[in-house]
Amino acid sequence: MLNLVLFGAPGSGKGTQSEKIIDKYGLHHISTGEVLRKNIKEGTELGKIADEYISKGHLIPDSLMVDILRQELKGLPKTTKGVIFDGFPRTIPQAQELETILAEMGESLTGVLGLEVAEDELVERMLKRGAETGRADDNIDTIQNRLKVYHEQTEPLKAHYQGKGSYIAINGIGNVDEIFSNIANEIDGRVK
Ligand code: AMP
Repeated sequence: MLNLVLFGAPGSGKGTQSEKIIDKYGLHHISTGEVLRKNIKEGTELGKIADEYISKGHLIPDSLMVDILRQELKGLPKTTKGVIFDGFPRTIPQAQELETILAEMGESLTGVLGLEVAEDELVERMLKRGAETGRADDNIDTIQNRLKVYHEQTEPLKAHYQGKGSYIAINGIGNVDEIFSNIANEIDGRVK
């Protein structure tokens, strides 16, 4: 299987590029943020808990996120060609759990695609998305918290994956198709 993590700060284009990767490579998309937003919309117990964290720009506790991930992986069709992990892992313990879970499935990560985008551009993109889609956590106060949390808890994953030789830096600034073409070149180089 082709198992890729799409890594990057909030607003770096993970959702946009995931869609294009799925189209080209026929992968299964697991977006933990989308799972949580769906639960909030449906008013489930998980949704109520998640809303408390998301509205403040905080991360949901690792144990809860790992349960969600296991659940999502259980639902994978047997014939799947692979998975794109979008928004997971976001902490070192989540990365370690992901490795364990994949190993239990007889799988491993093919690579970690890191979308690299300057901070001022991230803020601009999220404000634009908030205005266009009404996404609740795309407001300036929550955005600033999310970026702080990203630097403190998620960015250390870059060094973690660099140490394993699996981090692939992608310039996340510019035209969506150009960025995707760089991603596709990296994926093709890894699978051949
Ligand atoms: P996203 O759609 O990936 O930007 O996620 C939106 C929000 O959901 C984040 O700001 C977090 O509050 C929460 N979230 C999503 N994925 C995770 C995760 N792997 N660990 C903790 N919180 C998460």
